[in-house]
Amino acid sequence: MTTSAIWYERAVAVMPGGVNSPVRAFKSVGSTPPFVDHASGARLHTVDDDSLIDFIASWGALILGHAEPAVVEAVAEAARRGTSFGVPTPPEVELAELITDLVPSIDLVRMVNSGTEATASAVRVARAATGRPGVVKFEGCYHGHADPFLVKAGSGAATLGEPDSPGVPAATVADTHVARFNDLESVESAFAGGSIAAVIVEPVAGNMGVVPPQAGFLEGLRAICDRHDSLLIFDEVMTGFRVGPGGAQVRYGVEPDLTCLGKIVAGGTPAAAYGGREDLMRQVSPDGPVYQAGTLAGNPLAMAAGLATLRHLADNPGVYDSLETMGSSLETQLVEALAAAGIEGCVQRAGAMLTLFFGPPQVTSWDDAATVDRDRFARFFRAAYQRGVLLPPSPFEALFLMVAHQEVMAEATTSLVAAIEEVA
Ligand SMILES: *Cc1c(COP(=O)(O)O)cnc(C)c1O
Repeated sequence: MTTSAIWYERAVAVMPGGVNSPVRAFKSVGSTPPFVDHASGARLHTVDDDSLIDFIASWGALILGHAEPAVVEAVAEAARRGTSFGVPTPPEVELAELITDLVPSIDLVRMVNSGTEATASAVRVARAATGRPGVVKFEGCYHGHADPFLVKAGSGAATLGEPDSPGVPAATVADTHVARFNDLESVESAFAGGSIAAVIVEPVAGNMGVVPPQAGFLEGLRAICDRHDSLLIFDEVMTGFRVGPGGAQVRYGVEPDLTCLGKIVAGGTPAAAYGGREDLMRQVSPDGPVYQAGTLAGNPLAMAAGLATLRHLADNPGVYDSLETMGSSLETQLVEALAAAGIEGCVQRAGAMLTLFFGPPQVTSWDDAATVDRDRFARFFRAAYQRGVLLPPSPFEALFLMVAHQEVMAEATTSLVAAIEEVA
């Protein structure tokens, strides 16, 4: 038995599925998880002494690399001053200033502890500001695990939501309307079905695999929201600081009213944020009546990690060019490998996030994503793993590039191309 297997057995005895977040159980690739001892740069080192080139990157929370010295030092220094106070600290202000500088649509920002909290809080503000209950979301987009978002649509067309999980009362999702990504007509239909406070969208979908917005889609959402006096919420928990310094909203030139941030914003520690137009954010308590709070919100360790990460990105804008070059080269070589192996599929990418879909020639919405060859993906995952490359263990996730991948990209690409040949 491997050391990981021993830990997994202990974990399963005391935790649901042995994990603290379901995808970590590696079930969809017919496997069990490795346990990490430590990591550095682009490499994870397991408790079995295996070294893996890591494309999970803490599910996108890391963009520099594991144990980046500037981040580790900042967190250690913060810890020496005390780990939590529940009274304001300067780094909270500095991070808020940096976020409002980097993301032009954010005038004011509030720190929270997770992306789930950010989206739930943003929707609360939107409902309060508009006095309406309805929310439009897209099938295949993930906005954390708060009740109103745990909804799937029957056909992908605009349908009234039904709970996606036991324990979510039908009443909680009765105001959640589901539309099809990249399909403005389905959004219009959703508006016809209810009194809509906001549309919430991943501006580049990343939680059904990477699905970029087609030309005109985000602009169309902006126009529909304006016409109905509804708010547009960009959930940039994944895309923020990843697809460019100002996130997808700057990359695609469409301004939302509210933005949710997470993952990179806290440099691999547990924090997230939501923010936007001043008139909306002034409605949040204690400026306004919309209640939202957090004992550990703005935690000094998380602020230190976020500041060190965002400062590095702000001071080195060339980072995004090199991520783009790396991503584009990987994309090209994977596409060539698919063709050479005679495997149908496609590679979709936005900046430093990329998905290889086995099967469909193009993925524009969940309808396409749902057709992927899950069995071939599971075999591909295992073939890559055997060659020392750790992919996200699901066909509906993105590979996340980090600056640290630079040094291992040639090796990683060779391994991935060989893994594609193996599953032909
Ligand atoms: C990861 C993610 C979330 C949830 O964030 P948590 O910190 O896991 O609660 C929400 N929205 C998007 C787009 C995400 O990728």
